[in-house]
Amino acid sequence: MPLFSKFVVALTVVGRAAAFGRIGARAGALRVRSGGDTRLHSAVATAGTPTKLGDPQEFLDSVDVFIFDCDGVIWKGDSLIDRVPAVLKKLRELGKRIFFVTNNSTKSRKGYKKKFEGLGLEVEPEEIFSSSFAAAAYLEQTKFKDTGKKVYIIGEVGIEDELDLIGVPHIGAGADSAKAPNMKPGGKLDVDEDIGAVVVGFDREVNYYKIQTAQLAINELGAEFIATNLDAVTHLTDAQEWAGNGAMVGAIKGCTGREPTLVGKPSPLMIDYMEEKFGLDRARICMVGDRLDTDILFGNDNGLKSCLTLSGVTTEEKLLSPENKVIPDFYVDSIADYL
Ligand SMILES: [Mg+2]
Repeated sequence: MPLFSKFVVALTVVGRAAAFGRIGARAGALRVRSGGDTRLHSAVATAGTPTKLGDPQEFLDSVDVFIFDCDGVIWKGDSLIDRVPAVLKKLRELGKRIFFVTNNSTKSRKGYKKKFEGLGLEVEPEEIFSSSFAAAAYLEQTKFKDTGKKVYIIGEVGIEDELDLIGVPHIGAGADSAKAPNMKPGGKLDVDEDIGAVVVGFDREVNYYKIQTAQLAINELGAEFIATNLDAVTHLTDAQEWAGNGAMVGAIKGCTGREPTLVGKPSPLMIDYMEEKFGLDRARICMVGDRLDTDILFGNDNGLKSCLTLSGVTTEEKLLSPENKVIPDFYVDSIADYL
Protein backbone atom coordinates (compact mmCIF):
# COMPACT_ATOMS: atom_id res chain seq x y z
CA MET A 1 0.00 0.00 0.00
CA PRO A 2 1.38 3.48 -0.76
CA LEU A 3 3.24 5.02 2.14
CA PHE A 4 0.95 7.99 2.63
CA SER A 5 -2.44 6.47 1.90
CA LYS A 6 -2.24 3.85 4.62
CA PHE A 7 -2.35 6.59 7.21
CA VAL A 8 -5.44 8.30 5.94
CA VAL A 9 -7.67 6.74 8.60
CA ALA A 10 -5.53 7.90 11.52
CA LEU A 11 -5.00 11.19 9.79
CA THR A 12 -8.71 11.84 9.44
CA VAL A 13 -9.26 11.09 13.14
CA VAL A 14 -6.55 13.55 14.19
CA GLY A 15 -7.74 16.08 11.64
CA ARG A 16 -11.27 15.92 12.96
CA ALA A 17 -10.20 16.25 16.57
CA ALA A 18 -8.10 19.29 15.70
CA ALA A 19 -10.82 20.77 13.54
CA PHE A 20 -13.37 20.62 16.31
CA GLY A 21 -11.01 21.92 18.96
CA ARG A 22 -11.20 18.64 20.87
CA ILE A 23 -7.47 18.19 20.87
CA GLY A 24 -6.03 18.28 24.35
CA ALA A 25 -7.22 15.86 26.99
CA ARG A 26 -8.74 13.58 24.40
CA ALA A 27 -5.62 13.57 22.27
CA GLY A 28 -4.01 11.20 24.74
CA ALA A 29 -6.61 8.60 23.87
CA LEU A 30 -6.20 8.77 20.10
CA ARG A 31 -4.83 5.57 18.70
CA VAL A 32 -2.32 6.11 15.94
CA ARG A 33 -1.85 3.27 13.54
CA SER A 34 1.69 2.90 12.35
CA GLY A 35 3.25 0.13 10.31
CA GLY A 36 0.39 -2.21 11.16
CA ASP A 37 0.95 -1.74 14.90
CA THR A 38 -1.70 0.09 16.90
CA ARG A 39 -0.16 1.77 19.91
CA LEU A 40 -1.42 4.19 22.51
CA HIS A 41 1.28 6.82 22.46
CA SER A 42 0.60 9.93 24.42
CA ALA A 43 -1.23 8.76 27.54
CA VAL A 44 1.86 9.44 29.67
CA ALA A 45 2.93 12.68 28.03
CA THR A 46 -0.51 14.24 28.34
CA ALA A 47 -0.67 13.69 32.09
CA GLY A 48 1.36 15.35 34.83
CA THR A 49 3.19 18.63 35.20
CA PRO A 50 5.51 20.09 32.55
CA THR A 51 9.19 19.77 33.45
CA LYS A 52 11.75 22.46 32.63
CA LEU A 53 14.86 20.97 31.04
CA GLY A 54 17.42 20.57 33.82
CA ASP A 55 20.27 18.48 32.41
CA PRO A 56 20.85 19.22 28.72
CA GLN A 57 23.58 16.58 28.44
CA GLU A 58 21.32 13.74 29.58
CA PHE A 59 18.62 15.00 27.22
CA LEU A 60 21.00 15.28 24.24
CA ASP A 61 22.31 11.76 24.92
CA SER A 62 18.75 10.39 24.69
CA VAL A 63 18.01 11.91 21.27
CA ASP A 64 19.44 11.03 17.84
CA VAL A 65 17.09 13.12 15.71
CA PHE A 66 15.72 16.61 16.28
CA ILE A 67 12.66 17.76 14.40
CA PHE A 68 12.39 21.51 14.69
CA ASP A 69 9.35 23.59 13.97
CA CYS A 70 10.64 26.81 12.37
CA ASP A 71 8.59 29.88 13.30
CA GLY A 72 8.96 30.58 17.00
CA VAL A 73 11.81 28.06 17.32
CA ILE A 74 14.46 28.92 14.71
CA TRP A 75 13.17 32.36 13.74
CA LYS A 76 10.39 34.77 14.56
CA GLY A 77 9.08 36.43 11.41
CA ASP A 78 12.29 37.41 9.66
CA SER A 79 14.60 37.49 12.68
CA LEU A 80 16.76 34.60 13.80
CA ILE A 81 16.23 33.60 17.44
CA ASP A 82 19.30 34.19 19.63
CA ARG A 83 22.10 31.60 19.52
CA VAL A 84 20.28 29.27 17.12
CA PRO A 85 23.32 28.93 14.81
CA ALA A 86 25.45 27.81 17.77
CA VAL A 87 22.81 25.24 18.80
CA LEU A 88 22.55 23.76 15.29
CA LYS A 89 26.35 23.68 15.01
CA LYS A 90 26.65 21.81 18.31
CA LEU A 91 23.94 19.30 17.38
CA ARG A 92 25.62 18.59 14.05
CA GLU A 93 29.01 18.18 15.79
CA LEU A 94 27.38 15.64 18.11
CA GLY A 95 26.23 13.71 15.02
CA LYS A 96 22.51 14.44 15.52
CA ARG A 97 20.18 14.38 12.53
CA ILE A 98 18.16 17.54 12.11
CA PHE A 99 14.90 18.13 10.28
CA PHE A 100 12.85 21.28 9.97
CA VAL A 101 9.09 20.81 9.78
CA THR A 102 6.80 23.73 9.08
CA ASN A 103 3.06 24.00 8.58
CA ASN A 104 3.59 27.09 6.47
CA SER A 105 2.70 26.17 2.88
CA THR A 106 3.53 29.51 1.24
CA LYS A 107 7.04 28.36 0.32
CA SER A 108 8.37 25.18 -1.27
CA ARG A 109 11.37 23.35 0.22
CA LYS A 110 13.55 25.28 -2.22
CA GLY A 111 11.96 28.53 -1.05
CA TYR A 112 12.66 27.59 2.57
CA LYS A 113 16.28 26.76 1.81
CA LYS A 114 16.59 30.34 0.56
CA LYS A 115 15.04 31.67 3.75
CA PHE A 116 17.49 29.63 5.86
CA GLU A 117 20.40 30.89 3.76
CA GLY A 118 19.18 34.46 4.08
CA LEU A 119 19.42 34.02 7.84
CA GLY A 120 22.93 32.57 7.52
CA LEU A 121 21.93 28.92 8.14
CA GLU A 122 23.21 26.11 5.88
CA VAL A 123 20.56 23.39 5.46
CA GLU A 124 19.91 20.68 2.89
CA PRO A 125 16.58 20.66 0.99
CA GLU A 126 15.91 17.08 2.23
CA GLU A 127 16.13 18.34 5.82
CA ILE A 128 13.09 20.55 5.19
CA PHE A 129 9.47 19.32 5.40
CA SER A 130 6.97 22.05 4.58
CA SER A 131 3.23 21.36 4.40
CA SER A 132 3.39 22.32 0.70
CA PHE A 133 5.74 19.35 0.23
CA ALA A 134 3.46 17.16 2.39
CA ALA A 135 0.53 17.94 0.09
CA ALA A 136 2.58 16.94 -2.97
CA ALA A 137 3.87 13.80 -1.26
CA TYR A 138 0.32 12.79 -0.34
CA LEU A 139 -0.85 13.27 -3.95
CA GLU A 140 2.12 11.27 -5.16
CA GLN A 141 1.50 8.39 -2.78
CA THR A 142 -2.21 8.25 -3.61
CA LYS A 143 -1.25 8.18 -7.32
CA PHE A 144 -3.31 11.25 -8.12
CA LYS A 145 -1.38 11.75 -11.35
CA ASP A 146 -2.78 8.48 -12.72
CA THR A 147 -6.30 9.92 -12.58
CA GLY A 148 -5.39 12.46 -15.28
CA LYS A 149 -7.13 15.14 -13.20
CA LYS A 150 -5.80 18.46 -12.00
CA VAL A 151 -5.56 20.16 -8.62
CA TYR A 152 -7.30 23.40 -7.75
CA ILE A 153 -5.14 25.42 -5.35
CA ILE A 154 -6.27 27.91 -2.78
CA GLY A 155 -2.80 28.87 -1.65
CA GLU A 156 0.46 30.38 -2.79
CA VAL A 157 3.52 29.60 -4.87
CA GLY A 158 4.95 26.98 -2.44
CA ILE A 159 2.20 24.51 -3.34
CA GLU A 160 2.48 25.31 -7.06
CA ASP A 161 6.25 24.69 -7.01
CA GLU A 162 5.95 21.37 -5.17
CA LEU A 163 3.21 20.12 -7.55
CA ASP A 164 5.38 21.14 -10.52
CA LEU A 165 8.20 18.97 -9.13
CA ILE A 166 6.00 15.85 -9.18
CA GLY A 167 4.36 16.75 -12.50
CA VAL A 168 0.79 17.18 -11.21
CA PRO A 169 -1.17 19.77 -13.21
CA HIS A 170 -2.74 22.55 -11.20
CA ILE A 171 -4.82 25.69 -11.58
CA GLY A 172 -5.95 28.47 -9.26
CA ALA A 173 -3.60 30.09 -6.69
CA GLY A 174 -2.18 33.44 -7.84
CA ALA A 175 -3.76 33.19 -11.30
CA ASP A 176 -7.24 33.53 -9.74
CA SER A 177 -6.41 36.29 -7.29
CA ALA A 178 -7.87 39.10 -9.37
CA LYS A 179 -10.91 37.18 -10.65
CA ALA A 180 -14.53 37.72 -9.65
CA PRO A 181 -17.46 35.47 -10.61
CA ASN A 182 -20.37 36.77 -12.64
CA MET A 183 -23.07 37.33 -10.03
CA LYS A 184 -25.52 39.28 -12.20
CA PRO A 185 -28.96 37.66 -12.72
CA GLY A 186 -28.39 34.23 -14.32
CA GLY A 187 -24.65 34.55 -13.78
CA LYS A 188 -22.50 31.55 -12.86
CA LEU A 189 -18.95 30.41 -12.50
CA ASP A 190 -17.86 27.75 -14.97
CA VAL A 191 -15.71 25.30 -13.08
CA ASP A 192 -13.07 23.14 -14.81
CA GLU A 193 -14.56 19.62 -14.94
CA ASP A 194 -11.10 18.05 -14.63
CA ILE A 195 -10.49 19.19 -11.05
CA GLY A 196 -9.91 16.04 -8.96
CA ALA A 197 -8.61 17.59 -5.77
CA VAL A 198 -8.67 20.94 -3.98
CA VAL A 199 -5.59 21.77 -1.90
CA VAL A 200 -6.21 24.55 0.62
CA GLY A 201 -3.18 26.33 2.04
CA PHE A 202 -2.55 29.78 3.44
CA ASP A 203 -3.52 32.36 0.80
CA ARG A 204 -3.06 36.09 1.30
CA GLU A 205 -5.20 36.67 -1.80
CA VAL A 206 -8.12 34.35 -1.02
CA ASN A 207 -11.34 35.64 -2.56
CA TYR A 208 -14.92 34.65 -3.36
CA TYR A 209 -13.99 33.35 -6.83
CA LYS A 210 -11.58 30.82 -5.30
CA ILE A 211 -14.05 29.78 -2.61
CA GLN A 212 -16.85 29.27 -5.16
CA THR A 213 -14.54 27.25 -7.43
CA ALA A 214 -13.54 25.00 -4.50
CA GLN A 215 -17.19 24.66 -3.47
CA LEU A 216 -18.26 23.55 -6.97
CA ALA A 217 -15.28 21.21 -7.38
CA ILE A 218 -15.92 19.45 -4.05
CA ASN A 219 -19.74 19.48 -3.97
CA GLU A 220 -20.47 18.90 -7.65
CA LEU A 221 -17.39 17.19 -9.06
CA GLY A 222 -16.53 15.11 -5.97
CA ALA A 223 -12.99 16.50 -5.76
CA GLU A 224 -10.94 15.49 -2.68
CA PHE A 225 -10.57 18.24 -0.07
CA ILE A 226 -6.96 18.44 1.21
CA ALA A 227 -5.72 20.92 3.84
CA THR A 228 -2.03 21.69 4.26
CA ASN A 229 -2.67 22.67 7.90
CA LEU A 230 -5.33 24.01 10.26
CA ASP A 231 -3.32 26.63 12.16
CA ALA A 232 -5.66 29.23 13.62
CA VAL A 233 -3.12 32.05 13.54
CA THR A 234 0.22 32.71 11.90
CA HIS A 235 3.05 35.26 12.03
CA LEU A 236 3.06 37.43 8.95
CA THR A 237 4.79 40.12 10.95
CA ASP A 238 6.14 40.05 14.48
CA ALA A 239 3.79 42.89 15.51
CA GLN A 240 0.65 40.76 15.93
CA GLU A 241 -0.93 37.40 15.17
CA TRP A 242 -2.68 37.02 11.80
CA ALA A 243 -5.53 34.76 10.71
CA GLY A 244 -3.96 31.47 9.60
CA ASN A 245 -4.92 28.72 7.19
CA GLY A 246 -7.67 27.65 9.59
CA ALA A 247 -9.59 30.58 8.10
CA MET A 248 -9.27 29.35 4.51
CA VAL A 249 -9.99 25.72 5.42
CA GLY A 250 -12.92 26.89 7.57
CA ALA A 251 -14.43 28.71 4.61
CA ILE A 252 -14.37 25.55 2.49
CA LYS A 253 -15.65 23.38 5.34
CA GLY A 254 -18.45 25.86 5.81
CA CYS A 255 -19.75 25.59 2.25
CA THR A 256 -19.16 21.86 1.74
CA GLY A 257 -19.86 20.35 5.16
CA ARG A 258 -16.79 18.22 4.54
CA GLU A 259 -13.71 17.53 6.66
CA PRO A 260 -10.39 17.83 4.83
CA THR A 261 -7.61 15.29 4.63
CA LEU A 262 -4.94 17.01 6.72
CA VAL A 263 -1.32 16.61 5.61
CA GLY A 264 0.57 19.00 7.95
CA LYS A 265 1.05 18.84 11.74
CA PRO A 266 -0.50 17.34 13.86
CA SER A 267 -1.32 14.62 11.32
CA PRO A 268 1.11 11.66 11.51
CA LEU A 269 1.81 11.79 7.79
CA MET A 270 5.17 13.55 7.83
CA ILE A 271 6.70 11.48 10.63
CA ASP A 272 5.54 8.25 9.00
CA TYR A 273 7.18 9.39 5.78
CA MET A 274 10.46 10.21 7.59
CA GLU A 275 10.44 6.95 9.53
CA GLU A 276 10.03 4.88 6.40
CA LYS A 277 12.34 6.92 4.18
CA PHE A 278 15.19 7.40 6.69
CA GLY A 279 14.66 4.37 8.98
CA LEU A 280 14.40 6.45 12.16
CA ASP A 281 13.71 5.09 15.69
CA ARG A 282 10.76 7.11 17.03
CA ALA A 283 11.80 6.74 20.67
CA ARG A 284 15.03 8.67 19.93
CA ILE A 285 13.37 11.47 17.97
CA CYS A 286 12.49 14.75 19.70
CA MET A 287 9.88 17.12 18.27
CA VAL A 288 10.73 20.69 19.24
CA GLY A 289 8.10 23.37 18.77
CA ASP A 290 6.47 26.48 20.21
CA ARG A 291 2.84 25.42 19.77
CA LEU A 292 1.04 22.92 22.01
CA ASP A 293 -1.87 22.03 19.71
CA THR A 294 0.27 21.21 16.68
CA ASP A 295 3.95 20.64 17.55
CA ILE A 296 3.69 19.01 20.97
CA LEU A 297 0.53 17.10 20.05
CA PHE A 298 2.31 15.89 16.90
CA GLY A 299 5.23 14.63 19.02
CA ASN A 300 3.09 13.06 21.75
CA ASP A 301 0.66 11.33 19.42
CA ASN A 302 3.41 9.87 17.27
CA GLY A 303 5.53 8.26 19.97
CA LEU A 304 8.28 10.92 19.89
CA LYS A 305 9.87 12.87 22.70
CA SER A 306 8.54 16.43 22.79
CA CYS A 307 10.09 19.71 23.87
CA LEU A 308 8.20 23.00 24.01
CA THR A 309 10.16 26.21 23.57
CA LEU A 310 8.81 29.43 25.07
CA SER A 311 10.49 31.49 22.31
CA GLY A 312 7.29 31.52 20.24
CA VAL A 313 3.52 31.69 20.79
CA THR A 314 3.14 29.75 24.07
CA THR A 315 3.72 31.46 27.40
CA GLU A 316 4.85 29.61 30.53
CA GLU A 317 1.56 30.66 32.13
CA LYS A 318 -0.46 28.97 29.38
CA LEU A 319 1.71 25.85 29.50
CA LEU A 320 1.35 25.49 33.27
CA SER A 321 -2.35 26.40 33.46
CA PRO A 322 -4.70 23.60 34.60
CA GLU A 323 -6.70 24.04 31.36
CA ASN A 324 -3.73 22.87 29.28
CA LYS A 325 -3.85 19.13 28.73
CA VAL A 326 -1.05 18.86 26.14
CA ILE A 327 2.10 18.27 28.18
CA PRO A 328 5.56 18.16 26.59
CA ASP A 329 8.28 15.91 28.03
CA PHE A 330 10.39 19.04 28.61
CA TYR A 331 10.25 22.76 28.07
CA VAL A 332 12.96 25.39 27.55
CA ASP A 333 13.09 29.20 27.27
CA SER A 334 14.67 28.74 23.85
CA ILE A 335 16.70 26.00 22.20
CA ALA A 336 19.80 27.88 23.39
CA ASP A 337 19.13 25.95 26.65
CA TYR A 338 20.55 22.89 24.85
CA LEU A 339 24.00 24.51 24.97
MG1 LIG B 1 5.88 27.56 15.37
